[in-house]
Amino acid sequence: MKVLVVGGAGYIGSHAVRALEDAGHEAWVLDNLYQGHRAAVPADRLIEGDLLNPADLAAALDKTGAEAVMHFAALALVGESVTNPAKYYLNNVVGTINLLEAMRERGIWRFVFSSTCATYGVPDKVPIDESEKQLPINPYGDTKLAIEKALDAYCTAYNMGAVALRYFNAAGSHHSGEIGEDHDPESHLIPIVLQVALGQREHVTIFGDDYPTPDGTCIRDYIHVEDLCSAHVAALERLKQGELMKLNLGTGNGFSVKQVIDACRKITGHEIPAMMGERRPGDPAELVANASKALEVLDWKAKYTTVDEVVESAWKWHKDHPNGYGD
Ligand code: UDP
Repeated sequence: MKVLVVGGAGYIGSHAVRALEDAGHEAWVLDNLYQGHRAAVPADRLIEGDLLNPADLAAALDKTGAEAVMHFAALALVGESVTNPAKYYLNNVVGTINLLEAMRERGIWRFVFSSTCATYGVPDKVPIDESEKQLPINPYGDTKLAIEKALDAYCTAYNMGAVALRYFNAAGSHHSGEIGEDHDPESHLIPIVLQVALGQREHVTIFGDDYPTPDGTCIRDYIHVEDLCSAHVAALERLKQGELMKLNLGTGNGFSVKQVIDACRKITGHEIPAMMGERRPGDPAELVANASKALEVLDWKAKYTTVDEVVESAWKWHKDHPNGYGD
């Protein structure tokens, strides 16, 4: 299939491009390079353009002859979504609707959407399955839920076929060592801790140790980026017109902030000083996936199941690329 990967120069999108090509699909990238990296994708497959410019979307779909779209081009900083919600609603909601409209005008019906466990807000029970209520606690989660709802209606009314993949915490890097995680600013736990190991930060601040968890720090489900992307390909190949699938993507295993830092100490051999800090607003105590629906529907499950394996993979990239892509 010819697939347009929107946001394909970003962290997860660039890994999806590799997964698509490995599965025999033809992947093209549309990216505005706001957070994406030119070096993360083949130069002859990159089209520069913006979701907020419908002419860019039309041109990219026409040029590539895309039969499907994978959409990764979202803003995803919870804190920024609180202080600048307009930016989030414009890019994540208006931009995505622009994309769906450009697809609809061309009769392109296959859509793979990056959703998030943030749509669950504070879950009633963990591990979280897809029937958990969706009550986001920040504008970022609201924008993702808005698109899930739009997709439900689009699939029914316009016979599109889509999947909303609700990611837990993506981490790790490509086994080739060629692509990995490079955010500016970096806000995610594993890369921050590895930056301490590299001497780029003096310490990591643990955002609260008074949560109702065994060691008091927040528990998350860290899923390897290649596992995430293999699920995208499996979902793409199973899309059905008129149907929206909603699937959690996680390992089913939770690790606390302290456990992540300990794993990084063990794997890097560095001391990694940690300081205790305040809770970060909007952090639920525990987010762990029940990923049994993805197993049933996609015949997919995560190959990397421990935080050690995920940290080892992330460390390989950060150690060899201490300045990321250097752009
Ligand atoms: N975290 C932390 N210190 C940091 C960054 C993150 O203690 O410098 C914690 C954060 O509060 C959360 C977990 O690590 O409990 C994972 O955070 P991250 O931002 O990586 O992902 P999120 O769960 O917000 O998607």
